[in-house]
Amino acid sequence: MGRIAEEYGTLVFNDHTMQELLPSATYKALAKTIKQGKPLDIEVANVVAHAMKEWAVAHGATHYTHWFQPLSGITSEKHDAFLNPQKDGRAIMTFSGKALIQGEPDASSFPSGGVRATFEARGYTAWDPTSYAFIKDEVLCIPTAFCSYTGEALDKKTPLLRSMEAVSQQACKVLALFGQDVARVTTTVGAEQEYFLIKESDYEQRQDLILTGRTLFGAPPCKGQEMEEHYFGAIRPTVNEFMKELDEELWKLGVSAKTKHNEVAPCQHELAPMFTISNVAIDHNLLTMELMRTVASRHGLVCLQHEKPFVGINGSGKHNNWSIATDHENLLDPGDSPASNLRFLVFLAAVVQAVDDYQDLLRITVASAGNDHRLGANEAPPAVISMFLGDELGRVVDAIISGEKGETVDSVYMDLGVSVLPSFERDNTDRNRTSPFAFTGNKFEFRMPGSQINLADANTILNTIVAKSLKCFIEAVEGAGDFEKAAYKWVRTALTDHQRIIFNGDGYTDEWIEEAERRGLMNLKSTVDAAPHMLDPKNVALFEEFGVLNEVENHSRYEVKLDTYSKLINIEGQTMSHMTKRKIAPAVTTYAEQVARTINAKKKANGDLKPKAEQKLLAKLNDGANAISDALDVLDEALAKAQGTDDVLAKARAYHDEVLAAMESLRAVCDEMEGIVSTEAWPLPTYNKILFYC
Ligand code: ADP
Ligand code: MG
Repeated sequence: MGRIAEEYGTLVFNDHTMQELLPSATYKALAKTIKQGKPLDIEVANVVAHAMKEWAVAHGATHYTHWFQPLSGITSEKHDAFLNPQKDGRAIMTFSGKALIQGEPDASSFPSGGVRATFEARGYTAWDPTSYAFIKDEVLCIPTAFCSYTGEALDKKTPLLRSMEAVSQQACKVLALFGQDVARVTTTVGAEQEYFLIKESDYEQRQDLILTGRTLFGAPPCKGQEMEEHYFGAIRPTVNEFMKELDEELWKLGVSAKTKHNEVAPCQHELAPMFTISNVAIDHNLLTMELMRTVASRHGLVCLQHEKPFVGINGSGKHNNWSIATDHENLLDPGDSPASNLRFLVFLAAVVQAVDDYQDLLRITVASAGNDHRLGANEAPPAVISMFLGDELGRVVDAIISGEKGETVDSVYMDLGVSVLPSFERDNTDRNRTSPFAFTGNKFEFRMPGSQINLADANTILNTIVAKSLKCFIEAVEGAGDFEKAAYKWVRTALTDHQRIIFNGDGYTDEWIEEAERRGLMNLKSTVDAAPHMLDPKNVALFEEFGVLNEVENHSRYEVKLDTYSKLINIEGQTMSHMTKRKIAPAVTTYAEQVARTINAKKKANGDLKPKAEQKLLAKLNDGANAISDALDVLDEALAKAQGTDDVLAKARAYHDEVLAAMESLRAVCDEMEGIVSTEAWPLPTYNKILFYC
């Protein structure tokens, strides 16, 4: 343990290192930038850059990179050497303040959804000093935001930082009304990451896994997850070695990986870190995902991060635990005084109102081709957004809404608002695992995000919609004679108006979907259904109001979302067509030929024999081959049609309605053949083999 504590954060240019290595005036100037978001002076940047370089080189770094998150969602980096050749033939290692605070990647190769066409071809990256620089593979990585020269955000981090600022401003105003003088409020995130680990030797034989991250074929295994033995079960040695190395690598990078366990599905696991400030938590999650992939390859394993690698087996999600806090207080903690209770109720009601008013936006942040397979599939929350508050808090909320008969707002407030709220033990609040958005004691857990998703979008929306409700609150109570009464009245009205979003029952049932419809909640079943709501005037107005995304930036994200969706399904469709033609159909034919030969051989050996079993099998194989051929034609036609469609929404719709449907039919016949063709003749490792290894 001593070694771990010593190594924790050694590859991070963190506060401790800065204090040690920077002159005190520089440290103070930088700390101010970090805490208050003040711009960084170039003189200061020069000193910081020099110290950073010296530190990085001492830790074996040879290059630096601006590490950023383009709209593709993954991270990007371009490595530049510190090396600076001199006239006299020597070389020195240099790194300037300018290179630290600003970089110029070739922006043209990243998705921009038309922003660049409208504005400027070039983009630049700008240091986010609130997320520490770190060393990965001998490269000093500087977390940055990525913008166009005219200031449009070309990435996922910029809107997130803007949304954190927006919610901070509104929350500080709310706190001021409660008599608290706070300069900054931060949102916190703890991202629980699920993933699969399979053997590299199986992976290599599956083109579908290699090209699309999921299996496009595969009959159900003889044994699935019905025994429920994998969840929290003993971790197999290969996986244990992987997890140990992963933890150590993450700890060196200051990522506080805390919990690891097996998940419900065979080969499925989870890692949860300690929560931290949102933008850092998201940087850390992306780092974690990357390290999972690289560390796995050192253990003969492959880490699958797709939301649904195997049909019929639970998919992978990424729970987004979210809260809002001052330097020393979690604002979603009920606390034990009447004032902190009222403040808690205001923040609670603000979240309830936000989630109800902007269900569509939350749904959109988790919409992707991969996650479409998960939501509503009886293993993950449905596509309908609702909130779970738990029994105790639920009762408090019900009482606030209904009040005692005949009582005035004032007396209800005296009864409930002033009395001490129960402190919510996690065990009491966390029972409902089927809710998309659950209050779990002192935070909300948003359970819809998929395992591959960059959580920046979800948190950008969460922060912005909560900023909006807090602003509504401020407007409602400002100037009121009795602040507490006005605040309580707002809480009651907000909870009453938005109670339809609260649902404490089982979110996986069909009855709930019907009930949700009666309540008027949105059920946006797929990415294609959800995405158009990004352009709804109320949503565009929200982003403009809080300076999170202007109309062009928002539109670009709409285009990128649909374009990415179409591209992914196109790759899947093409991979499927290719694999069917080159592997599966030939395997069925070859096996049929083998069976036919057996029939003839038997008849030849003994004319009286009736090879009924082989005849039956041959007939099935023949029918299967025909069905595969027909289904393949339908898929190829659907692909050609979708590829020829221009409009971004119509194209995505064609992929959803026609290509996906054709893929499903083709899969069904191929999987049926998998069940009757001999193991030797079948060209792909099956679910039985992939999912159950030692
Ligand atoms: P689960 O039962 O879902 O595994 P845990 O209690 O283990 O839940 O916590 C899940 C995640 O929630 C962890 O990453 C944890 O750090 C995070 N978390 C706890 N408190 C907060 C908070 N105030 N804000 C954000 N995340 C939090
Ligand atoms: Mg969880």
